[in-house]
Amino acid sequence: MKKIPLFASLLALAVATPAIAQTEPSPSRLKADVEKLVSFGTRHTLSSATDPKRGIGAARRWAESEFKKISKACSGCLTTEKIERNMSGPRVPNGVNIVDVLAIKPGKMGWDHVIIIAGHIDSRVSDVMDFTKDAPGANDDGSGSALVIEAARLMSKQPQGEATIVFALLSGEEQGLFGGRLLAETAKERGWKVTAMLNNDIVGGTLGTDGRKVDNVVRIFSEGIRASEDMAAQLARRGSGGEDDGPSRALMRYADKVAESELGEIGLDAFGVRRPDRFARGGDHLPALELGLPAIRFTVGVENYHHQHQDLRTEDGIEYGDTVDKMDFDYLAKVTALNVATANSLSVAPPAPTSAKLGGAVSSDTKVEWTPVTGATGYRIYSRKADQPNWTDVVAINEASATSHVLTGVIVDDHFVGVSAVNASGKESIITFAGLPPRQ
Ligand SMILES: [Zn+2]
Repeated sequence: MKKIPLFASLLALAVATPAIAQTEPSPSRLKADVEKLVSFGTRHTLSSATDPKRGIGAARRWAESEFKKISKACSGCLTTEKIERNMSGPRVPNGVNIVDVLAIKPGKMGWDHVIIIAGHIDSRVSDVMDFTKDAPGANDDGSGSALVIEAARLMSKQPQGEATIVFALLSGEEQGLFGGRLLAETAKERGWKVTAMLNNDIVGGTLGTDGRKVDNVVRIFSEGIRASEDMAAQLARRGSGGEDDGPSRALMRYADKVAESELGEIGLDAFGVRRPDRFARGGDHLPALELGLPAIRFTVGVENYHHQHQDLRTEDGIEYGDTVDKMDFDYLAKVTALNVATANSLSVAPPAPTSAKLGGAVSSDTKVEWTPVTGATGYRIYSRKADQPNWTDVVAINEASATSHVLTGVIVDDHFVGVSAVNASGKESIITFAGLPPRQ
């Protein structure tokens, strides 16, 4: 088990495991789906659930019928399901039935390895309580919803992987992240082991309010300090570090690596923002993070505030409103490709070790122990000096039964260490940071 530089080992990995063949996302299909979503007039969470043509109910029924169409074309490879709950809050004072529309592609590991690709189907205008005015919500979040449907189309053509994929269209985001909460709570209640939630919210525009055009960058927001940690875990974290290495951050690094290795030629860079979401704003991945699910948010490289949460109008020559003509569907296709490539890569890999423990105080060596992973045939031990932002070294352990490793001559005080699981086809999980276990 010799220590090899990270770059060389990744090159070897790329040779050993060629990228999965991908059918490309279609800008014209994405455009047609966003136009269809806009055609429901408003998709406000408090709009009609029963009107056949206008409102969130009609939009949800159409989305469900799309999922069913996709499933029919792959001989029933997807199941569709609606989860619903009456929920209330300051922006839903009288309560409303929140409905999330799901399509599920089962994996070999069933609910022990789950990847969620999500967007929110609801929309809004300037007054968040106005549920009658036209609220096209083309980019926010018709783009994310169309991405989810297109991802289902593309992934329905892939062979069955290890992970179960959940394609999720969420409601109630604008009224208080209700659909995201409903999905995260459902995952917890049903005992899903969620490997990743890829949340897509505003992913189809390239022209910023400041006039910049950014069509080669997608921002990925991830959590540092864990919302889900209790006081004992927080105190242990304070002792061992790892603020920059939680599951959400590790997932962001994974997606970033996929963008670099598989999407370089289509011209999309991932900008990994070390923050749970845009400053002082939120999205449907936040309730998932609160419940300890690894989640990240994809959002455009530059936002246009004239085209978000606005009544349709022209003022002083400026057009306000979230309409289709302000979008860029070639760009949306690129972000879709990154979601599909990330989910595909994770879905053929084992899940990450649930936890990893570091030892080696007052010693010249560092010891790392981890929880074994079903389906793993080996592990990789990553390390970096404690002043570095990204992993620099890796050791491959080609032994399915291994649950510990000693890094000889590595002083634990000066290094961070993480562990990933690898299966027989060389596919790798996200990396679990090794730290102190919480004191009981
Ligand atoms: Zn949104």
